[in-house]
Amino acid sequence: MRYDGQVAVVTGGSRGIGRAIAEKLAAGGASVVIAYAGNDKAAEETVQSCRKLSEGSEASIICVKADVSNEDDVAALFEKAMEINGRVDIIVNCAGITKDGLVLRMSTEDFDKVLKVNLYGAFFCSRRASQIMLKQRYGRIITISSIVGLRGNAGQTNYSASKAGVIGMTKSMAKELAGRNITVNAVAPGMIATDMTSVLPDKVKDEMTRTIPMGRPGTAEEVAEAVAFFAGKESSYVTGQVLAVDGGMAV
Ligand code: NAP
Repeated sequence: MRYDGQVAVVTGGSRGIGRAIAEKLAAGGASVVIAYAGNDKAAEETVQSCRKLSEGSEASIICVKADVSNEDDVAALFEKAMEINGRVDIIVNCAGITKDGLVLRMSTEDFDKVLKVNLYGAFFCSRRASQIMLKQRYGRIITISSIVGLRGNAGQTNYSASKAGVIGMTKSMAKELAGRNITVNAVAPGMIATDMTSVLPDKVKDEMTRTIPMGRPGTAEEVAEAVAFFAGKESSYVTGQVLAVDGGMAV
């Protein structure tokens, strides 16, 4: 897959799945704007690895600290992307957090925070990206959902609501934007080995792994492959879809 001359904004691009996506797009020749919350060191490492992967191409690779749950930060993020590159062809909404707990004890604050980052963040970025893409008459909007958004999960009422929310949003935006050559799709990973899942107790990880037909967690790179397809020109007639990348977990 090649993205030469194209510009991608990847939120949550400093670590985990977002980093693998940024690297995949950079390796394909895209200019990449990596948005992150606060881990400067991780963001800089991703910039360096992306630059190495895109050596020989004209691509520019930068990182921007931007809290996707903050509208002003999102406006500044896209302003920077436009200032440097003059266009945005691909937005990957990958920034995400968890604040797990049983619904009986879940605070409004924990519900709110997860919805603000995972759902509002994807909305703020998609809205701004779609305004730019409409003028270009081209765009690819991809949001990282989760199989938890399809099936639910005990202890993740807030997270599953946010991940189900982005699926509804993806389908609605796909219908609105299809006529303008902008596709909107979602990827729903299962259990992927990243910082997010590394904090789970081993017992929980083992139990979850037993429910995966492939018998192992996925890698961030395996999720990035699915995103790469939706991000490419080749997926021009695919919109409003949710692709599970989960080793068969949700089947
Ligand atoms: P991760 O390793 O914890 O990385 C999270 C990324 O999101 C980091 O780049 C972080 O930036 C960024 N981020 C967090 N809050 C942000 C905010 N308010 N504004 C901007 N950026 C923010 O997570 P991951 O496992 O790669 O997950 C990536 C996405 O995949 C998430 O949407 C997650 O829900 C989804 N997902 C993950 C799994 C899994 O098993 N890992 C499964 C299904 C879906 P900093 O580095 O600056 O903190």
